[in-house]
Amino acid sequence: MSGLHADLSGQPGVAALSADLAAGRVSAMELAQDALARARAASSLGAFLAIDEAHTLAEARAADERRQRGQAGPLTGIPLGHKDIFVTDHARSGLLSTAGSSMLAGYRSPFDATVVARLGIGEPGGVTGAGMVTIGKLNCDEFAMGSSNENSAFGPVLNPWDRSRVPGGSSGGSAAAVAAGLLPAATGTDTGGSIRQPASFCGITGIKPTYGVCSRWGMVAFASSLDQAGPMARSAEDCAMLLSAMGGFDPRDATSVERPAQDYVAEMRAPRAGASTSRPLQGLRIGLPREFFPAGLASDVAQAVRAALSALETLGATLVDVSLPRTELSIPVYYIIAPAEASSNLSRFDGVRYGHRTAAATDLNSLYRKSRAEGFGAEVKRRIMIGTYVLSHGYYDAYYVQAQKLRRMIADDFQACFRECDVIAGPVAPTVAWKLGEQAGDPNAAYLADIFTLPGSLAGLPGMSVPAGFGAHGMPVGLQLIGNYFAEGRLLHTAHALQQTTDVHLRRPPAAP
Ligand code: GLN
Repeated sequence: MSGLHADLSGQPGVAALSADLAAGRVSAMELAQDALARARAASSLGAFLAIDEAHTLAEARAADERRQRGQAGPLTGIPLGHKDIFVTDHARSGLLSTAGSSMLAGYRSPFDATVVARLGIGEPGGVTGAGMVTIGKLNCDEFAMGSSNENSAFGPVLNPWDRSRVPGGSSGGSAAAVAAGLLPAATGTDTGGSIRQPASFCGITGIKPTYGVCSRWGMVAFASSLDQAGPMARSAEDCAMLLSAMGGFDPRDATSVERPAQDYVAEMRAPRAGASTSRPLQGLRIGLPREFFPAGLASDVAQAVRAALSALETLGATLVDVSLPRTELSIPVYYIIAPAEASSNLSRFDGVRYGHRTAAATDLNSLYRKSRAEGFGAEVKRRIMIGTYVLSHGYYDAYYVQAQKLRRMIADDFQACFRECDVIAGPVAPTVAWKLGEQAGDPNAAYLADIFTLPGSLAGLPGMSVPAGFGAHGMPVGLQLIGNYFAEGRLLHTAHALQQTTDVHLRRPPAAP
């Protein structure tokens, strides 16, 4: 590994590794072996759910061969982990797909999710995928329901900054693996904050694109009108590189948006009209919704966010006051719509077609009941019950229809803001990462902590978490940036400008292996 861009403890990001691979300073095989060793050494973190060394090394070999043939792209040969909500073809990868649920324990998917295929090595000998090498599948809350990764059927993930704290969720394994330097990048999914909040809790960068940018084909469905995939990595630049490969129209997903593939790296780098090198954000209006800075916001979070906002001002941005008056309502709205969709999506797990089947069935009814009772965890059951209730005759209009109306109004509120600003900013979460077990038995506490991520999710807008600083107990704090539809490039440009002048995003947990 001599000649590697930085020594191993330096944990190079995607862009640095890309340069090393292109210059022949390191091979995909060496990177894969290194990542596998790191994953093994850090198994107590709980980030990985599945690893298949032989298949990973075969992928690395294929990536090196592709480079020798002159067919490598910027991501070819770079190690990657997938949130275990993406299905991976078992015959191709040797990896199971569980969605963090006992219901799917041992499930062998017969195909790859579109995002997996696009980032990966593609067909054997082919050049269809970006050529990243899958190191394994990453732990997550069961069916992506949660904010702490404690709802995984396969155990919690520890926050690498303080192992007594949660990494956030539901993409907790992805965030912890990147923060601990086990992987330069990982995929995540975000229904109501699951990329942004764990990125914030673990001090990494993550982006949830506009709903419909990344195909949902092969993503185990939670709430279909909200679910969206995105990259989690060290920097905005690394996220831009991955998103360029992940996104784009997919005829297999009816909600995938038909527009040409985007080069987010070019968008991130494109200078703003009228900007200078020292003031790259000149003319950018950043809107601060007053509801995102309530009196009760933890002072450490407020301070770190304000510091990042001042840095953005120094780069030329101006801060303007805006309002998202229905911010608080986004919690009941989301916790009606998401469970409603979940109750419908999860009806397919009936012990017949997919997943766990009870051994104790006496007739068809008990087969359904017992398979579902045994296969699902408490939070998933809670949401199926809430969802079934709000969709049931007599309650549908009072809850579900009402929530849909409010969802529209929340989206309209954003459009009113975007007449006054180009980007919206605020905290990602009201506090830093909490202690493992602290919220046990109180699901409402976790629901309330989603307040700043849910509005953008309900509106289908792109949102980002960018490391802002550190708060209580030395834990990371993220700055949230929300853009208008398809403004991913603007978000990445803003975050990149910040990351060119500050090093908050480069700090690593002291105990990282
Ligand atoms: N914390 C939210 C929930 O529990 C969001 C989860 C997600 O985005 N997948 O539903």
